[in-house]
Amino acid sequence: MSENPLISWYDDFLGVAYRYFDIRMNVVLMFNDHTIKIRFIETGDDYWFVMGADSRRPDTNKYFYKILEKSENYERFKKGHQGSAYMRFGIYSKKTVDQVKNDAKCDCGHRKDDHDKDSHACLYEVCECTNFDTFQLNILKKKKVVTNIKFLSEDDVKDDSLAWNCLNRNKYSKTD
Ligand SMILES: [Zn+2]
Ligand SMILES: [Zn+2]
Repeated sequence: MSENPLISWYDDFLGVAYRYFDIRMNVVLMFNDHTIKIRFIETGDDYWFVMGADSRRPDTNKYFYKILEKSENYERFKKGHQGSAYMRFGIYSKKTVDQVKNDAKCDCGHRKDDHDKDSHACLYEVCECTNFDTFQLNILKKKKVVTNIKFLSEDDVKDDSLAWNCLNRNKYSKTD
């Protein structure tokens, strides 16, 4: 057999744990424990989502940020989080018309069988959808409790090292 050169192998984790007490046995890959911090920095109608995962090994630290528009779900989370949340990973995938059943909903809100069989445009007269499109969010089971969550205004950023590092690198030191 020939080797697939596209595969990159990763062995930078601590070990493998086996759990016997469920119906199925579990194989668990153990990584270094990371301390996860999340910051929401509000700048008018937008906010910066900033997440940092620190461990005792700085080379495995990971930092993420994204500038997003404030949404209803964001405001709901802000009001309701009470200082902790589960952090989980999800896989977002777009599905085409051939990959879903007839009752699948298009992003326009109408079912697949309300769309033209050939052009895939929505058949509702009031609808401007010209092509069936839908997405699926698969949330992975692995989760981690995050208790270090802060909502900040831009004035507070200088007092928070994670927020400061992010905005300094990605906003204040940018010249365009
Ligand atoms: Zn549609
Ligand atoms: Zn429609």
